[in-house]
Amino acid sequence: MSKNEISYISTRNGNESKNFSGAMEQGLARDGGLFIPDRWPDLSDKLWNHIESMSITDIGSALAQTFVPEIPADRLESLVEDAISFDAPLVHLHDDLYVLELFHGPTLAFKDYGARFMARMMSYRAEQASQRMVILVATSGDTGSAVGRAFEGVDNVDVCLLYPSGKVSPLQEQQLTTIGGNVTALEVEGTFDDCQKLVKDAFSDSKLRDELILSSANSINIARLLPQMFYYGRGLAQLEESDSVHFCVPSGNFGNLTAGMMAAQTGMSVGQFIAGTNVNDVVPEFLESGNFSPRASQKTISSAMDVGNPSNLERIRSFYPDVVELRQHLWAASFNDDACRTVIEEVYQSYDYILDPHTAVGYLAANSYRKEQESDQPVIILGTAHPAKFSDIVEPLIDTEIPLPGALKESMEKEKKSVRMYASYPKFKSFLREQYS
Ligand SMILES: *Cc1c(COP(=O)(O)O)cnc(C)c1O
Repeated sequence: MSKNEISYISTRNGNESKNFSGAMEQGLARDGGLFIPDRWPDLSDKLWNHIESMSITDIGSALAQTFVPEIPADRLESLVEDAISFDAPLVHLHDDLYVLELFHGPTLAFKDYGARFMARMMSYRAEQASQRMVILVATSGDTGSAVGRAFEGVDNVDVCLLYPSGKVSPLQEQQLTTIGGNVTALEVEGTFDDCQKLVKDAFSDSKLRDELILSSANSINIARLLPQMFYYGRGLAQLEESDSVHFCVPSGNFGNLTAGMMAAQTGMSVGQFIAGTNVNDVVPEFLESGNFSPRASQKTISSAMDVGNPSNLERIRSFYPDVVELRQHLWAASFNDDACRTVIEEVYQSYDYILDPHTAVGYLAANSYRKEQESDQPVIILGTAHPAKFSDIVEPLIDTEIPLPGALKESMEKEKKSVRMYASYPKFKSFLREQYS
């Protein structure tokens, strides 16, 4: 490793240092912390100063070269092009409010970016090691299909998705079980916890791990955060005048917002980061009081943000250890489901734009920030999901049917294929052996 290349260290300052692939494969640092880059090169000249009208893949390649120095540049570029196969259009809503639509990928949510990039990085890693890799994912619904679709047809990697039979929504089950090829859906007779336990048992089975290379695709993985920097750049690239833009991020586990802060650390110009949360308001509370008190999550209509102990806050706090300093970069507020429903209706009536329940929380936060700070600088709200994914909530509010985008329609028409299994580890183990070794 050359001396000025990035390596990855723990948020808890253990003395572990890994290259990108090593940090990706391990997931968590040995001291229990999360991996972060050990330095922040200034990319102003290389990237940010001429971001105007750059494509998302050119931005992605520039950032990936910095953050994944061990992969040769031309190879990295083609991996980025394959992963980031859909753009993030910037839509003007009204006044100085914009939505950066991150939901034009295969599962209609921003997590497609992270999952697809990680899939290609894993595939490259497996290719280098000349050994197939098996990704195990226990899912209660959404994560599984985003990860499964991301690895669809990717070389050198197989994916096994475990989901609790009868406990995911019909739409989710349809998405999980129609991928096929290198992605197998295991329908477990049990609960989500049983699925998680099976995966955990497999990871701690050293005999099995002598035979198979197992990995996970956890959302705290650094490989899922990196590509989320790309679209911040793409948002700026589409804005006519880009001095002092605020970014507003509907947040749950705060990975999306962390990626924005990482981009800012390399010289991206940004005013304030604005976080909107639902009633799971641990972070707004922390910014206000300085006390971080994680707790059990509450159910809301923006369910992908129902997080009571946001793990990426540990990364954010490592960037800004002092809460007074953090407040200069991050403003946050929380909103309940009623406010969210009302604003979906209003924005549709007034501006003919359909917000999904998550992006609606972002819209509320952006507006409250502008009011409180009397700011009229542009705000880019990250649009995290397509409203068609949440049609049961959104359609009654706007009294209109939301057409299913092509990606969703396709998986609705395919035939379900799953392997049913009791929640028994010996059964799971012999399945893995038969299937993959
Ligand atoms: C995951 C998710 C979020 C929250 O993102 P974090 O990175 O966890 O803060 C917001 N909206 C949607 C639609 C999501 O799927």
